[in-house]
Amino acid sequence: MSTPRLFVESDLGPGDEVPLSDSHAHYLRNVMRRADDAPLLLFNGRDGEWRAALAVRGKSALARLVERTRAQTAEPDVWLCFAPIKRARIDFVAEKATELGASVLQPILTRHTAVERVKVDRLRANAIEAAEQTERLSVPEVREPVDLARLIAAWPTGRRLLVCDETGGGPPIAAALGALDEAARVAPWAIVIGPEGGFAAEELKALRDVPQMLAVGLGPRILRADTAALAALACWQALVGDGRSPTPRLAIDYLTSRG
Ligand code: SAH
Repeated sequence: MSTPRLFVESDLGPGDEVPLSDSHAHYLRNVMRRADDAPLLLFNGRDGEWRAALAVRGKSALARLVERTRAQTAEPDVWLCFAPIKRARIDFVAEKATELGASVLQPILTRHTAVERVKVDRLRANAIEAAEQTERLSVPEVREPVDLARLIAAWPTGRRLLVCDETGGGPPIAAALGALDEAARVAPWAIVIGPEGGFAAEELKALRDVPQMLAVGLGPRILRADTAALAALACWQALVGDGRSPTPRLAIDYLTSRG
């Protein structure tokens, strides 16, 4: 029986009693059918991951912290900036980009963006659920949508910009990222993906004017925006981010299965 893993806002420390939200209480008691003392794992994005015991209190519930199971570690600082798309696809991007370790999800409004309304709360809920499932120690910050021009005007100094340019204006992504020097590898990054309608010419020009911008191609096929976002993020993690680290769980499972 797998141990439920929950994201909470509260601070986490030894002996703490952390109140659980109504939806977590409902999930644990009615969906997962967990009773008093059932083991839980909790994380809040700041204090690492904690083992806890469930304490049922009438209709609500709390978690009694037992011990820290993992220390908080720094995660790659990579924003994913993407134009809003239809509901099912944007939910998919929020879930998968969380699994792939994006630190910020930033919806951008562009000339050719078809969908203008973004349910940020729903994206946040998707990101939290994905972080719980994927053993991340943090949840990506989901920001309010911003005009691309405004985002570029306020571009943070030192943050590298990876522009996925479907017009063929850049080298293939693996060649470009593989050739980065050490300073670029440890820098904060952002990946920018255009809308289904593509970037307008003046938007590409403005993106190209950002210092330390890198325009890349994702191969000969034109991908849909959601595919492009996840393909670019997966490449970035594999070549620059923590995709270069070993996968710890595999090693543990392997050892325990050998008894
Ligand atoms: N309508 C546009 C395609 C937009 S695809 C056209 O037909 O030209 C949506 C976004 O995904 C693009 O703006 C780009 O950021 C990214 N993208 C898709 N395929 C790509 C590729 N082969 N190389 C680089 N970026 C790509």
